[in-house]
Amino acid sequence: MNNPGCGLPSVGFIGLGNMGSPMSARLAAAGYRVTGFDLDPGARARLADAGGTAVESAADATLGADVVILMLPNSAVVEAVLAEPEMKQALAPGTTIVDMSSSDPLSTRRLAGELAAVSVILVDAPVSGGVKGAQTGKLTIMAGGPESAVAQIGPLLAHLGRARRAGEVGAGHALKAINNLLSATHLLATAEGVLAGERFGLEPGLMVELINSSSGRSGSTDNKYPNFILPETFDSGFGLRLMLKDMKIATDLARQLGFSSRLGEQAVALWEQAAQDLPPAADHTEIARWTAAAARAGQEQGE
Ligand code: NAD
Repeated sequence: MNNPGCGLPSVGFIGLGNMGSPMSARLAAAGYRVTGFDLDPGARARLADAGGTAVESAADATLGADVVILMLPNSAVVEAVLAEPEMKQALAPGTTIVDMSSSDPLSTRRLAGELAAVSVILVDAPVSGGVKGAQTGKLTIMAGGPESAVAQIGPLLAHLGRARRAGEVGAGHALKAINNLLSATHLLATAEGVLAGERFGLEPGLMVELINSSSGRSGSTDNKYPNFILPETFDSGFGLRLMLKDMKIATDLARQLGFSSRLGEQAVALWEQAAQDLPPAADHTEIARWTAAAARAGQEQGE
């Protein structure tokens, strides 16, 4: 696992979007030889500007890499990238693939089995902390996979945030989906609460401030309201449809484990309505503005 000259593993990085771009830039700044690919030429140019090498395909990013990091939208894309024939040829036995996307844990487990058959190790290591956490190296990283493999990539992950092993492969992806179902549910609950308070005559900023030193506080009141919703910038860098994807992973997982996540399913139904009403690139914090608009529309229709 050596990057000639500096003793660090060489890194292939596939998916250089809102998260992958700052993460790959941090690894390049830390001295890793990072070779990256994204379908978007602008994203590839950002990696080159940050000191990495941008290439024209996922297979080219993988060729010669000790560790291949994936930061892609979902499991379907992860599976499609890994199934490319050139990719299969580029993946040398002994390579570690680290799927840092928020993927589906059952798909991850299946994929790990397939990759093990060609002596490639899959570790899932999804993250929480948003674009800011990615820029500052303060992500929470939830890793799943063999202890030795997680330990081996520990020094690399330390440049991105604080990594903890949650269990065997898929454990990180399961935990991440559950986390985001909680996050999305309390964001929606907060939007409804703030709306009710506003209509009662309360000032939203003061409400959030007081909730933050009370028992109703959450990541929504602590971070999302003060930074993206109250200033009406709605620019956290995490798409609404990516959040909905994570919520569905969690509710589907519950169903596959034999029970229905009843509150979660209600939250999914409301976020699905928002996704139908809002443009494709809408930030997930838009759910607050959508909740207020939906309440107004409901009132006009006499609901
Ligand atoms: P993004 O849409 O900004 O980036 C995804 C990138 O993947 C895009 O640049 C896209 O061009 C690229 N891509 C898509 N298909 C590809 C392919 N076949 N080959 C190569 N590149 C391809 O998304 P993001 O916000 O960076 O999120 C990435 C993952 O991280 C998602 O799973 C998301 O749920 C998760 N995540 C995001 C955040 C956040 O705050 N944005 C936080 C935690 C986790």
